[in-house]
Amino acid sequence: MTTTTPPVSRLELDAESTEEEPSVLRLPAVGDDRERDDHGPVTGRAAHLHLHRGSGGGVDLDKAAGAVADLLDALGVDRNANGLEETPARVAKALAEMLTPEPFSVTTFANDEGYDELVVARAIPFASLCEHHLLPFSGFAYVGYLPDERLVGLSKLARLVDHFSRRLQVQERLTAQVANYLQSTLQPKGVGVVLEAEHLCMSLRGVRSGGSRTVTSALKGLVRDDPRTRSEFLSLAGTSG
Ligand code: ZN
Repeated sequence: MTTTTPPVSRLELDAESTEEEPSVLRLPAVGDDRERDDHGPVTGRAAHLHLHRGSGGGVDLDKAAGAVADLLDALGVDRNANGLEETPARVAKALAEMLTPEPFSVTTFANDEGYDELVVARAIPFASLCEHHLLPFSGFAYVGYLPDERLVGLSKLARLVDHFSRRLQVQERLTAQVANYLQSTLQPKGVGVVLEAEHLCMSLRGVRSGGSRTVTSALKGLVRDDPRTRSEFLSLAGTSG
């Protein structure tokens, strides 16, 4: 009697890395992350991915606060006005929070029951920062997958969206990153990600199209190619596409 797949794999998202690289997903060499349990030898390979935040080299809050003060000066704002003393420090802290992903690990489980229907986490709230204007865009994410051999906890889908949200983003890339990560770590039969968001850079400026929302999607595998699965996912995601 042998177990061919570890019952639990750990996928770690390491936001603390200081390596100066763009965000990458890397698979370690085969066989360096085996786990043993009481059921006999383990011959499968645990998926173990490190996700790096990319270049940047950490947050210097004092420097950021000074830069915010300079920005306010350059914009003609009187920083001595009542209530503004702490504003540069507050802005720096708020931005740092939005740009610093929490490290976390994702545990996957063997799909012992052979569950083969869509798993969808609906209406996950998220907020990110538009890389063009440094203004927030926020809304809801719908993240689903069609399981193959592994399952992942639903709460981890929300954490995943949050992780990729905490950096300068465009909505299209955020959508693709969540989908690509799920596809490569879980290797399900399909993945679907839909994001619906309001961009303050659109709704507060120019045409002031308040309330208009932008929808992006990334579909993979059977969620993209099988008409029934595709329409089931899109209806669960509340879009008509
Ligand atoms: Zn923008």
